[in-house]
Amino acid sequence: MVAKRGNAEDYTMALVAHDGKKPAMLEWARRNREALVQFKLYGTGTTGGLLHKELHLDITRLLSGPLGGDAQLGALIAEGKLDCLIFFIDPLSSQPHDVDVKSLTRLAVLHDTALAMNEETADAILAHMQRKQL
Ligand code: PGA
Repeated sequence: MVAKRGNAEDYTMALVAHDGKKPAMLEWARRNREALVQFKLYGTGTTGGLLHKELHLDITRLLSGPLGGDAQLGALIAEGKLDCLIFFIDPLSSQPHDVDVKSLTRLAVLHDTALAMNEETADAILAHMQRKQL
């Protein structure tokens, strides 16, 4: 739940993409780079590394998702430290860390954290977050 008001950098966003969706995440982030730089950004290891390398985004990299990165993001949500989660899951591949994926999405729903799992919803969340920053 987003309750804060004020400086844009007070808002936190996490970016995560399964391997099959990393190109889509990169494309979405490239398109929205100007807006994204206003947030305090977190990313799982590989996704975060890719966004830093390709787009020079200042992003705090957690562990890789399957190695605990999803769980770290879940902890941030449970502690009220994450305002929104852009999580491009791959609906066509099974994930070895499916329990972590499920836990992360469950915590986002439980704590009323803005959650996007595809580009269209990510666009809507970004617009919503930008309105809150006004
Ligand atoms: P990755 O993790 O960014 O380290 O690939 C993503 C995930 O599968 O949760």
